[in-house]
Amino acid sequence: MDITGAIILAGGQGSRMGRPKQMLPIAGKAVLVRSIEALRAVASVSKIVVVTTEENFKEVSSLFPGLIHALPGESRILSLQNGLKALGGADLIAVHDGARPLVSPQSVKACLAAAKTYRAAVLCVPVKDTIKQVKDGFIEKTLDRSLLWAAQTPQCYDGATLRLAMEKYGSFKDATDESQLVEKLGVKVRVVPSEYENIKITTPEDLIIAEALLCRQK
Ligand code: C5P
Repeated sequence: MDITGAIILAGGQGSRMGRPKQMLPIAGKAVLVRSIEALRAVASVSKIVVVTTEENFKEVSSLFPGLIHALPGESRILSLQNGLKALGGADLIAVHDGARPLVSPQSVKACLAAAKTYRAAVLCVPVKDTIKQVKDGFIEKTLDRSLLWAAQTPQCYDGATLRLAMEKYGSFKDATDESQLVEKLGVKVRVVPSEYENIKITTPEDLIIAEALLCRQK
């Protein structure tokens, strides 16, 4: 049977929030705690690595025994490298932002299932805004909205594909996600339509939005 692992990336400094956001509460529970709960709700996930500080890990591991710890790197990709080492062998791997506490277990399952078939899959939603490419304060061009999707997490991979992408292209340490490294391998990454609720807590108003969504869900 396949071994499925999850790597939860929670090593950011929260520069756009003005402070680290992992342990900020939303509706009474920390962002990272909610993200871990969402992954633990998926029965096939048998190993979970949390990439975060010693202090945060102490707190979350007291709530969820059996978590594996890795320390953050200087960028998301370097954090993922540490997480992959700590995870050890896994046939399928879900890489999730610790800052996405509202992902549904159904979406995680759908993404893992697509990765099993296609080697790589990413939760995405169609963009709602018209996106402009801007240089020096002026619009360079307007992108065709009908082709644009916003990538969320989890991004799921077969283990060998993710390891190969990181081995070959892990030096692109400023890449904002790892699926772009898998794309460079020539693997066609499957888009799995997701939910707009799966927001990333990035700026202060995201906390208000997440709290409102959680209260609505109750
Ligand atoms: O910076 P960004 O919003 O893209 O971060 C996405 C996720 O990656 C967040 O959950 C953040 O904590 C994590 N991250 C990390 N290590 C870093 C930078 C970001 O684990 N050095």
